[in-house]
Amino acid sequence: MYDSIIIGSGAAGSTVARKLAEAGEKVLVLEKRPHIGGNCYDRLDAYGILIHEYGPHIFHTNEEDVFRFLSEFTDWHLFGHEVVANVHGELLPIPFNLNTLAKVYGQEQAKELEQILIAEYGAGSRVPIMELKKSAEPKIRAIADYVYENVFLHYTMKQWGQTPEEIDPEVTGRVPVLLSRDNRYFQDKYQGMPKDGYTAMFERMLAHPRITVKTSADCRDCMEFAETGVLLEGTEFTGNVIYTGALDELFGCVYGRLPYRSLDFRLEHFDKESFQGRSVVNYTVSEEFTRITEFKFLTGQQDTDGTTIVREYPFAYTGAKGEIPYYAILNDKNRGLYQKYADRLQSLKNVYLLGRLAEYKYYNIDAIVKKALQLAGTIRR
Ligand code: UDP
Repeated sequence: MYDSIIIGSGAAGSTVARKLAEAGEKVLVLEKRPHIGGNCYDRLDAYGILIHEYGPHIFHTNEEDVFRFLSEFTDWHLFGHEVVANVHGELLPIPFNLNTLAKVYGQEQAKELEQILIAEYGAGSRVPIMELKKSAEPKIRAIADYVYENVFLHYTMKQWGQTPEEIDPEVTGRVPVLLSRDNRYFQDKYQGMPKDGYTAMFERMLAHPRITVKTSADCRDCMEFAETGVLLEGTEFTGNVIYTGALDELFGCVYGRLPYRSLDFRLEHFDKESFQGRSVVNYTVSEEFTRITEFKFLTGQQDTDGTTIVREYPFAYTGAKGEIPYYAILNDKNRGLYQKYADRLQSLKNVYLLGRLAEYKYYNIDAIVKKALQLAGTIRR
């Protein structure tokens, strides 16, 4: 009855579903949650404010094909996303850039330091903090120490429960020291929000006559991934299966749980125009939460007098009911455990793993859409 089954309806699953349906396949999407959109899911809160239920998601890309594809399903509220860090009450542009340098050291001294930095790394370059710390030049190392202490150390301890040295350098490398005066968090060509939100965008993507979406549908209730083949309602399913969920859960976590960091999102509404006057403030030296997001400044929503914010409190995912695995903890040991689970699918040539959870990776939205477009291109019949 179906040519392909897709498990999960986030950015990964929705993109593959659409492309396979457009190629003529009949597609079944099984979504465990009562709604589509994965962690990009957004909705109006009790005050009519568009919030991101699973944390702030800012779209950004340089990939023309990704932007073109998504633009088939949405208009955009495009803007240059900016973040500041609250460092002992002072607001500093993040990533740490030449404007931040001037704020911290004063114009005069910053001028000299800027020249030293640019001579070493080149104007406009992006230097990971862990690289900067290795510099042989004492003045550069002093800057690195400042940035490490005031931007990375405490935030990373909160977010990961580990120091920047202990986590994969790819993670802190996402927010490099930037040798320019560009205050934007990302330097990508396109950045912003789907105009009517992510949920609306993914709803349109999935609205195709050859796509059937079942929400509140846990694939484990109707499917089995045996060594000899995939079973759907007890009968072998020979079409393609794209799994975008947590891989350990597919096998009852028999080798133990894959480690993740989770977040507790605490929302608060205020009956006033604005709480912090900007979208995101990172708390890099104080507080137990990592950042505060004020949604109306992300979404561009204007038809509201009040405002809703969210504070993010990280914690170690245990798999307890209600907890959500957000960030894979990337290290050799965990990758090894992941591989053990992946090996169990090796004999199943029609099963594909796709997305943050299923691949145990730290993907941005555009990267996963790109990967989903590619996968759909290679597997469609
Ligand atoms: N980070 C930090 N201080 C900041 C911003 C980021 O220490 O002000 C580090 C931290 O380890 C974080 C990582 O850089 O987990 C990646 O940050 P990003 O903003 O990309 O995280 P995401 O938005 O994906 O949670």
